[in-house]
Amino acid sequence: MYDSIVIGAGAAGCVVARQLAQLGGRRALIIEKRGHIGGNCYDRLDEYGILVHEYGPHIFHTNIEEVFSYLSRFTEWNLYKDGHQVVANINGRLIPVPFNLNTLRLVYEKEDADEIEKKLIAAYGAGSRVTVMELKKNPDPKIQAVAQYVYENIFLHYTMKQWGQSPEEISPEVTGRVPVLISYDNRYFQDKYQGVPKDGFTAMFANMLNHENITVRTNTDAADLLQLTEDGIWFEGKKFEGDVIYTGALDELYQCRYGRLPYRSLRFAFSHLEKEDFQQGHSVVNYTVSEDFTRITEFKYLTMQENTNGTTIVREYPFAYTGAENEIPYYSILNPENEALYQKYEQKAWLLPNLHLIGRLAEYKYYNIDAIVNKALHFADALLQSNKTKEERNE
Ligand code: FAD
Ligand code: UDP
Repeated sequence: MYDSIVIGAGAAGCVVARQLAQLGGRRALIIEKRGHIGGNCYDRLDEYGILVHEYGPHIFHTNIEEVFSYLSRFTEWNLYKDGHQVVANINGRLIPVPFNLNTLRLVYEKEDADEIEKKLIAAYGAGSRVTVMELKKNPDPKIQAVAQYVYENIFLHYTMKQWGQSPEEISPEVTGRVPVLISYDNRYFQDKYQGVPKDGFTAMFANMLNHENITVRTNTDAADLLQLTEDGIWFEGKKFEGDVIYTGALDELYQCRYGRLPYRSLRFAFSHLEKEDFQQGHSVVNYTVSEDFTRITEFKYLTMQENTNGTTIVREYPFAYTGAENEIPYYSILNPENEALYQKYEQKAWLLPNLHLIGRLAEYKYYNIDAIVNKALHFADALLQSNKTKEERNE
């Protein structure tokens, strides 16, 4: 009945299913264990009619024209005119993050700021991006003092909360996502397109899956329908020869037999307030030197909703994922040891030629939405192409 099975209805699974169904004429079944599609991008109206992001604030941002135009087939956008802007709350004082030349001038007196700005431009070039860990290595004592300020006031406490580890202990790729900007740019991302789908992410993915060749089964764990053996993949008791695209956690596909892959999880604490505005002045405020939560998001500003009945906010409390029921693995912890464990599972998966791994969980990577959509588009093309080649060989 089906010739492809996609496990997980997040961004990766939805794009792959759509492409296989539309370009390849494949009859695709998507199996999703949660009660909804969209994966971690899922959004919904809360009981007060405010569109909230169930799994933390999601801002679509990209420079990849192909990705923007692909997604634009399924949604219109609320694009942010001045980009997504975030501030850090440092004991009640709000400063722009990423740290940039505006932030420098808020923190330093004019004379010092002028001198440091010149030094930063001479060292790295106007408009450049430098990670805090790189900046710390600069031998100039004035630049080092700035690096130390950024490290202590923006990165140290936030990173300890988010990862349970210091910035030195985590992958430089992670802190490098929020570099110091040698420019007067207050935007959190420097991408050309920044915003949210006009009717929400869930509606965008629902439009994507709205295709005659696609069947979606939510509230269904793939482990209950599929068995992996040395001889192949079995679906509802029969050997399945079609492509199986897996987007969930790879260790869980193999019952964690070599040990669990470590992840960070989050608890989201939503609050609704019977007032027009939470008065934090920004859609997202990062708490970088205090509190147990990392950030507060006020949704009406993130999703550009007007005339709402009150306002809804969410606080994010990180913790170590244990695999307990109802916990969700959100962030892979990138380090050589975990990568080696991942590879053990990956080698097992390679033994089954019709099993394919894609997605933030299945690849144990730190993908943004645009990066995974891009990957999924190219992955589906390659899969259809290799199939065509096989058919041609058999003719
Ligand atoms: P997922 O969304 O995790 O989808 C995988 C799906 O597979 C899930 O729905 C899961 O339930 C399902 N699944 C797993 N195992 C099984 C099984 N055994 N059977 C059936 N189904 C299964 N990106 C941005 O670009 N901008 C942002 O602002 C942004 N903010 C983020 C904030 C947070 C808190 C987090 C955690 C991520 C954020 N991201 C953001 C990243 C974004 O969420 C991911 O890039 C995207 O969701 C990845 O899609 P995916 O399909 O790979 O994974
Ligand atoms: N980070 C920080 N302080 C901030 C913002 C980010 O220390 O105010 C660090 C932290 O380690 C975080 C990483 O930079 O995990 C990447 O931040 P990003 O906002 O990209 O994280 P995400 O949105 O993926 O949670």
